[in-house]
Amino acid sequence: MCGIVAYIGKREAYPVLINGLKMLEYRGYDSAGVAISNGDFHVYKKKGKVQELIKHVSGAKISGTIGIAHTRWATHGKPDDINAHPHVSGNGRLAIIHNGIIENYNVIKKALLEKGHTFKSQTDTEVLAHLIEEYYEKAGVSLEEAVRLALTKVTGAYAIVVMDSENNDKLVAARKGSPLVVGIGEDEFFCASDASPIIAYTKRVVYLNDEEVCMIPREGRISIKSIMANEEQTPLVQKVDLKIEELEKGDFEHYMLKEIYEQPKILIEAMRGRLNSNEGWIKLGGIDQVKKRMADADRFVIVACGTSWHSGLIAEYMFEELARTQVEVEYASEFRYRNPIITDRDVVIALSQSGETADTLAALEMAKKNGALLYGIVNVVGSSIARLTDAGSYIHAGPEIGVASTKAFTGQLAILAMMAIHLGYEKGTIPRSYYNQLVAELENIPSKVEKLLEADAQIKYIASEIKDANNALYLGRGYNFPVALEGALKLKEISYIHAEGYPAAEMKHGPIALIDENMPVVVIATNKSSYEKVVSNVQEVKARKGKVIAIVTEGDTAISEIADYTIEIPDTDEPLTPILSVIPLQLIRK
Ligand code: GLU
Repeated sequence: MCGIVAYIGKREAYPVLINGLKMLEYRGYDSAGVAISNGDFHVYKKKGKVQELIKHVSGAKISGTIGIAHTRWATHGKPDDINAHPHVSGNGRLAIIHNGIIENYNVIKKALLEKGHTFKSQTDTEVLAHLIEEYYEKAGVSLEEAVRLALTKVTGAYAIVVMDSENNDKLVAARKGSPLVVGIGEDEFFCASDASPIIAYTKRVVYLNDEEVCMIPREGRISIKSIMANEEQTPLVQKVDLKIEELEKGDFEHYMLKEIYEQPKILIEAMRGRLNSNEGWIKLGGIDQVKKRMADADRFVIVACGTSWHSGLIAEYMFEELARTQVEVEYASEFRYRNPIITDRDVVIALSQSGETADTLAALEMAKKNGALLYGIVNVVGSSIARLTDAGSYIHAGPEIGVASTKAFTGQLAILAMMAIHLGYEKGTIPRSYYNQLVAELENIPSKVEKLLEADAQIKYIASEIKDANNALYLGRGYNFPVALEGALKLKEISYIHAEGYPAAEMKHGPIALIDENMPVVVIATNKSSYEKVVSNVQEVKARKGKVIAIVTEGDTAISEIADYTIEIPDTDEPLTPILSVIPLQLIRK
């Protein structure tokens, strides 16, 4: 991932670009760069965060009303000043920023080397800059046509913006598999990976579709063409419903913490208008639209990546237990490259915060070809997955800027729980009394999360006790097994400590050999159904002197007596437990 921002209009471009980069830093932060033109190019690139770029540029006279900027998350070539974007074409005329991977860059590079091109960086992106230059110089076409022709030769994923130092009256943008949105202002245009850098200036945006190239003029209207078919497309102008306050981090140390604390509010939003315990109903507009096909489905296939894959695993327990529906959960990246058996009697559910996850999108396209019903659970309104699916439910979690997903995860769980409870009741696999109980309990969940957040100081203390460990083990059973996976992922991603999540019962088949006094073991022991077994697992860890941090239900005694540290969570119905038990795991940090 990386962040892209571009501007053309009447303002000085630099402040617009730098503010935009700060908002997109969650997408990549190993290096950053900017190119601005006022006849000649000013290109500045620096390893490190956006702040390093600002220091690097400070004092320089950088002026111009057209520019592009990038914050990188390296895929090809190490993070350094040279590999940072923008990349400039061989003749020094074009500058390009890119999010994604040009998979066949090596073949293209070889051909270009034979033609005499030389390269400065190790990136795939620079190869694309040279390829566009080839078409621009040799074919004598417009910049947008040169970009389009070059992209017909490319495989992989990209969102790019290109500028020409000798023509300051246009930018050219294109996308396939990576998001890109164009902001339409009064005599000015913006372009970015998401709408956050744009909304301070305009709420009118056009989300580019896959395989489209867009010419963005200094004055007049944008024009869009499909890359392969070379056909004119009509831009669909939409209004973004995003407030600037939602993008600010307030008094929190960082965005992830802010988003963890937003969860009680987000859960209420995810359920607003969709559930009412007084009247005893759950209503999901998305499901109503495809009710029959969903009820007749042979099975649900959930496709997702990362944290969303963990919520998919939890959904498997929910759907199987409550609605007796057969479920398979797939890593989208594996599923799309297999030859899976999918039929028109399958429902494929995609889980993705951004709604742009390239592998999940590709998996959906494949399932669509096989006639499956597609259902999307995404956060970003109007995103590619939202548009591709037959029906779906938005999470309504507001922008998630923290790199590690938190509020979108619990929001997804609330929606998946509503779906499972609703389908279970419709199918007659749960009785009315249990349905009512679960609906009422779901309504209580936000206040229980609120209460749980009060344990932050205690969790911080526990974290300080284990912060020097090199490894950690997370154990859980049943609904809490995917929660263990999610806890381990968070520790790896945020605290850079190696961690593994395991089903507690599997510990004895290998990982137990690793346990000694240096190994913190986080045990999620809130389940009612297998409590005794988890108590035995904790005993086994203690017998090997492992340090046990146990997440238990309020009032627990057996585990609390043997664990080194305990964190209590409020009691709830088992299918809803993960929404609570994950909260302390999100809060454990160095
Ligand atoms: N593949 C490009 C690079 O490594 C872009 C990576 C990104 O999306 O940040 O520079």
